[in-house]
Amino acid sequence: MRSTPPASPSAGPTYGNPPAARGISPGAFSAVSAPPSCRRFVVVAIRADVRYTGGHVTTADRFPMREYHVLNLGAGVQSSVLFLMANDGRFPCDLAVFADTGEEPAAVYRHLDWLRSLGTPPILIRSAGRLGDDLIRGCGPTRRFVSIPAFTLGEAGRVGRIPRQCTRTYKIDVVERAIRRDLLGLAPGRRCPPGVRVVQYFGISTDEAGRAARARKRFAEKQWTVPAYPLLDLGWTRRDCLTWLADRVPHPVPRSACVFCPFHDNAAWRDLRTVDPDGWARAVAIDEALRADGSACRRGFRQPLYLHRSCQPLAEIAFDALAPEPLDPMAGECHGMCGV
Ligand code: SF4
Repeated sequence: MRSTPPASPSAGPTYGNPPAARGISPGAFSAVSAPPSCRRFVVVAIRADVRYTGGHVTTADRFPMREYHVLNLGAGVQSSVLFLMANDGRFPCDLAVFADTGEEPAAVYRHLDWLRSLGTPPILIRSAGRLGDDLIRGCGPTRRFVSIPAFTLGEAGRVGRIPRQCTRTYKIDVVERAIRRDLLGLAPGRRCPPGVRVVQYFGISTDEAGRAARARKRFAEKQWTVPAYPLLDLGWTRRDCLTWLADRVPHPVPRSACVFCPFHDNAAWRDLRTVDPDGWARAVAIDEALRADGSACRRGFRQPLYLHRSCQPLAEIAFDALAPEPLDPMAGECHGMCGV
């Protein structure tokens, strides 16, 4: 059932609290009415056999459970809704993690500063390095190859796309490392102790539900962490999110994605060129570096690589003359997880 975005904060839905809203009996969560500082030590005080698994209750646990709530913050539209809901107290959140590729548009960093100025939940910014630099020079001391979902032009003129590993290295692994090291205090390589569960919240709306399915698959093997999708539970689209944000944020909430992300649609490229000259210059530089001799990202590819699906150099494309593309909610937005 779809929940209409509320007109005012006081009329808004709650997510995660109270338990009755999720069909969980009040007795199951002893900490639901406890102060926020106690909320992470959920469950067990009353019902030792109950655990929360992202909206479902099972009866398998025999251990006291410490539960943490972490928001994957991309600082785009959907994850900003979740951040503000958490800030309103409608959403349990111990920590928001922003995995910084170092390549977001200036507007995203300004918006991130504004979110931080609200105080809660705390935002942890962590990074695996500057993605564009690593594309050109290679990643880390061994100059490891890094890829983004760039386009290739085959010999018969067929356009292809190379597999991306940027999402895993610069987003997913960064958030997971922050949770393990900064939140749980685990040394590298240490297993998560039994009885600890981390609920990771993702800002995925109903118009991109396929991304949630892919993320669920990724989480299926993990014992210590589960994903949750409040916007899907609320039945909200990206447009609903924009409506909800309109009177809560004193500036337009930007799209979150690297300035040179090949997922951009033509409108996103045009906007970048118009409103963010530095970001546009960076995208053009990376586009040229993809084809330059000696760039690490060329390793293993005989065909030239391009950022734009037309397989033309970005600087030469007349975006104003291009027809609008059909709506693609993935286009131009990383959501802190780039669609996986
Ligand atoms: S925004 Fe695009 S280029 Fe950046 S990490 Fe995500 S998929 Fe890769």
